[in-house]
Amino acid sequence: MSQLKFECSSLGFACEWALRADTRQEIVERVREHARCAHNLPELPGELLGKVESAIATA
Ligand SMILES: [Zn+2]
Repeated sequence: MSQLKFECSSLGFACEWALRADTRQEIVERVREHARCAHNLPELPGELLGKVESAIATA
């Protein structure tokens, strides 16, 4: 089973953070956590969530 990957810079942040996960759901959850801790975004705006979804790529 191939993994999925996501890079925070794809959201437009000057940020090196990236992750790999097995499911899109896990990526979205971890991006929410990262956005809250690292980018001071308690809630992920719908616009950014859409960008997250479209930036998830096969690893
Ligand atoms: Zn980031």
